[in-house]
Amino acid sequence: MTPSNPDLSVVIPVYNEQDNLARLQARLEPVLRGTGRIWEIVYVDDGSRDRSLEILTEFAARGAGQVRVIELYRNAGQFAALAAGLEQARGGIVVTLDADLQNPPEEIPRLLEAIAQGYDVVNGWRKDRHDTTFRRLVSRIANGLARAVTGLAIHDYGCMLRACRREVVDQIVAFRDHAPYLPVLANTCARRPIELQVAHAGRHAGTSKYSLKKLIALQFDMLASLPGQPLRPIALLGAGLGFAACGAAVVLGLLAFLLESGAVGALALSGVLFFLVGLLFLVVAVVAEYTGRTWDLARHRPRAVVRTVHGVPGRPVAVRIEDESDDRAARPAVAALPLEEVHGFHDGSDQTRRPVPGA
Ligand code: UDP
Ligand code: MG
Repeated sequence: MTPSNPDLSVVIPVYNEQDNLARLQARLEPVLRGTGRIWEIVYVDDGSRDRSLEILTEFAARGAGQVRVIELYRNAGQFAALAAGLEQARGGIVVTLDADLQNPPEEIPRLLEAIAQGYDVVNGWRKDRHDTTFRRLVSRIANGLARAVTGLAIHDYGCMLRACRREVVDQIVAFRDHAPYLPVLANTCARRPIELQVAHAGRHAGTSKYSLKKLIALQFDMLASLPGQPLRPIALLGAGLGFAACGAAVVLGLLAFLLESGAVGALALSGVLFFLVGLLFLVVAVVAEYTGRTWDLARHRPRAVVRTVHGVPGRPVAVRIEDESDDRAARPAVAALPLEEVHGFHDGSDQTRRPVPGA
């Protein structure tokens, strides 16, 4: 069966998850069959360097069109990979999920029930979270920030188990952000979002793909995905602190005068000054962040380059010559579609289309 019009798509980004995929597929398939819907699974291989792609293409080969694998040209990051998957997903409902089995696939039917009740975004809420204390602390700060700016009282923005209606997915795909931070975008595009407690598990195999550096970068992606300008609260904060600093300067000046100690006054004032300079750096950094992102968009930098889509029946195939020097050369030579499309360019034009050498 080739589902031409699936009503349920499950999109999963994959980066070096070779030891999780067989188990994930074995648990996911019966769940999807049990929904009684026409379903598809869209895996996005985010430039894995292990055997993930090979395993996924096997799933696609025996998936009878129900399993597709979007092979990205290089690692683009979880959210750029997810966006590439959402662009390809055809379902009226799209569920996202991590590949490491931290989000139990068995929870999907509960999300679908909530969608059936009329909600358009159903967010998983990992009340009993199986992550390190540090990760939980980072999430606490990020959730607080997201809540403050979106005004939506969602506990757990970071849970990647989420179901969205097509109307919301179409809006998300239309955003051209390089790393569209799905948890915030989905909820700001939603008309009737809801949060549902879901089970959470420890990673089945492998380690987290998020180093401290990547986690910090993720917070910037989240900030950039927020609606409106986070600069406004920062400007208000700056103004408030400026007034406070002026008040402190007067008080400290008076104190120095009364104590007849110039040194106390100078030290205290330089403390205030350092604080204000630090704040100024923060504001400039936020402005620079926006400018950098705008610059990337202006020069049409792609967010994720799709190399090939595996598992699409009835399309012409070409065998690509593998580059021996490439560390991906360990992969089998895959029967692949011609690289006829490079998705994710910001103007949606096909000016970047190019033929495959030797195809
Ligand atoms: N992932 C990805 N590209 C990346 C990093 C991660 O596609 O550059 C995928 C990863 O394979 C997993 C999901 O994103 O399916 C979440 O990653 P991970 O479990 O490492 O994140 P954590 O649970 O530690 O937040
Ligand atoms: Mg994980």
